[in-house]
Amino acid sequence: MQRSTSEYKLKPIKRQARQLLGYPHPKPVPRGLHAEQWIGISRDEFHRAKDSGIQYLRSAFPLLHLDGAADGREGWTRDDCLRYLRANGWASTPKSACIGCPFHSNAQWRRLRDEQPEEWADAVAFDAAIRAGNARGNAMGKPLLGEAYLHRSRRPLDQAPIDRVTSHEWAQRQTDIFAQIADAELDDNDAEGCSPWSCRSEETTHVHRESA
Ligand code: SF4
Repeated sequence: MQRSTSEYKLKPIKRQARQLLGYPHPKPVPRGLHAEQWIGISRDEFHRAKDSGIQYLRSAFPLLHLDGAADGREGWTRDDCLRYLRANGWASTPKSACIGCPFHSNAQWRRLRDEQPEEWADAVAFDAAIRAGNARGNAMGKPLLGEAYLHRSRRPLDQAPIDRVTSHEWAQRQTDIFAQIADAELDDNDAEGCSPWSCRSEETTHVHRESA
């Protein structure tokens, strides 16, 4: 969500960059001085490679310029990255995302439920807590119209049909390119990744709402 991006990603990154440059807030950073941050956007998601828009913080995208991709083109795809990680002993590398991200696929919710029970409990509690909207918004006279849910089925998360394999997941399983890739990794592909300067919530509504 945009608020989580700004609070938990952008602010700490900016604070640390200023610290490293020797100009912590509120000191102005001199023009021309900047930190470079490397962001792992793969070629399949090159449209997410965005600059920070902050004069003292420049983004670099090293994966987009690597040689050695399976198709011989410049830049690595997600499959190139997975192949490299497997070859170096990293068996399972699911995409990272906030625990309660409303863009999780069913596969991602299942993995959270089955492999990370504490985080799953957190997400279920968070989902219940957002039903009536944001407390501050309500207090300020801007109530949520309807109800908010994390899962697209608009059901409480612990009752949502996350065991349903979507048609997209089936399609991906049937076009399995690398037999050794675990199902979990394949399933993970139906949701795009999220990065500090290209949060998915900038493109679509981030909480599923149901009209009252
Ligand atoms: S879109 Fe999801 S992963 Fe990205 S910042 Fe928002 S909640 Fe987190």
